[in-house]
Amino acid sequence: MLLYNSATRKREEFIPHVEGKVSMYTCGPTVYHFAHIGNLRTYMMEDVLEKYLRYAGYDVTRVMNITDVGHLSSDADEGEDKMLKGARREKKTVMEIAKFYTDAFFADCDKLNIKTPDIIQPATGCIPEYISMIETLLEKGYAYEAGGNIYFDTSKLEKYYIFNDFKEEDLDVGVREGVEADGNKRNKADFVLWFTKSKFDDQELKWESPWGIGYPGWHIECSGISLKYLGEYLDIHCGGIDNAFPHHTNEIAQSEACIGHEWCKYWVHVLHLNTNSGKMSKSKGEFLTVSLLEEKGYDPMVYRFFCLQSHYRKSLVFSWENMDNAVVAYNKLIARIAALDPDSGDAVDTEAFETLRAGFVKAMDNDMNTSLAVTALYDVLKAKVSDATKLALIENYDTVLSLSLLDRANALRKKEEEKKAAEAKALADAAADPFVAEILSAIEARKAAKKAKNFAEADRIRDELAAKGVTLIDTAQGTTYKID
Ligand code: AMP
Ligand code: ZN
Repeated sequence: MLLYNSATRKREEFIPHVEGKVSMYTCGPTVYHFAHIGNLRTYMMEDVLEKYLRYAGYDVTRVMNITDVGHLSSDADEGEDKMLKGARREKKTVMEIAKFYTDAFFADCDKLNIKTPDIIQPATGCIPEYISMIETLLEKGYAYEAGGNIYFDTSKLEKYYIFNDFKEEDLDVGVREGVEADGNKRNKADFVLWFTKSKFDDQELKWESPWGIGYPGWHIECSGISLKYLGEYLDIHCGGIDNAFPHHTNEIAQSEACIGHEWCKYWVHVLHLNTNSGKMSKSKGEFLTVSLLEEKGYDPMVYRFFCLQSHYRKSLVFSWENMDNAVVAYNKLIARIAALDPDSGDAVDTEAFETLRAGFVKAMDNDMNTSLAVTALYDVLKAKVSDATKLALIENYDTVLSLSLLDRANALRKKEEEKKAAEAKALADAAADPFVAEILSAIEARKAAKKAKNFAEADRIRDELAAKGVTLIDTAQGTTYKID
């Protein structure tokens, strides 16, 4: 498989550290609010990557953190803890907020068929691990104490800016209005490993440490959790593109300084989902959540389909119009699958199966080209192979795409069968009534009279029925009636 590696800015052949096994780490949500559908685009594309690696035969272990402490308003370690802000907004404790939004996050993931990673670790659960890492960094001379906090010294590294295209000035971008730069830092790019001093004294969660009571920085959490569960050689680290800098850059700095060798080989970043007016936000404009999609009548699967139709390394614009187009395309796809006969009794043509499947694999092997993988689904529907072969292929691809294709098609087929059965029953019930039987036979007689151009007879029949309180209605589909 070719995978684009943001660290080398190249598409590279994916070769895991241990043959047949993949260790994968995902930066999890900061649980101070609902996830917006942009956040969920990232988790969805990571889910496809994990599922495809399993599909390709790898034994994958995937770990994700839950950020419940230390993520400040600015990614450059300044401002207030996002969790504390969330707690104040809702007049709850930080732990109540964390529990509520963690549950909400997994409920959203469920609706989008995003599998839960093998290991989920809240950041507050690994404090001893962060402390031990920070101790090592201090011992090795990569960290210093200033103004009560412990900082990572980026000047000690030969190369800090891994993902390039980022410069020191970019750090200012992360510093929002009303947030002052931290004067304790020796270098602008230095970042906090452990806080004991902050302007925000009402920080709820604090722990004992060799440097005083405090709390960890956001970046150390992901390094600590990843090293704990996945060891010193990580195959893939994922996140949204905004995580590349400073978060992932800092993760690399502290992890490699600690272990003394290269840590993670492949860095996969998902580009953002934007709105027509720009960046997606939780505070400004419409807060786009999965619940909002549902309230507006959209099946979450349509949103997944919408995302899979474009490549993860391209930013994607969300609009209601784009969603409407995705609804039409998804429903058409489901209708075509529902039209296949699941009870044909035909055997699956294994040769045709493998030939067609090669198209899907080729698309996915090419840096996870899900848009071509979706095209491969249409190729199956168009192919001159049995319905049994088509259904087997669709089921196979959907173990990766997770678009609920067969479930939705079965549900549609069942609905159509129920509709037909209800219509047939209504006809049979009506025909069993002697008066209705008389009307139906009169309608037939009138139809025959009209065909024979005996319009006088046709009118006579209509008038006779009218006298009995029956009005005939002629439509393009035939004649129906109404009993007054
Ligand atoms: P957060 O909860 O803010 O830590 O973000 C969770 C994940 O969503 C991270 O991997 C972010 O990089 C990613 N993310 C944030 N905004 C967007 C967006 N507009 N589109 C796609 N992913 C995003
Ligand atoms: Zn992270």
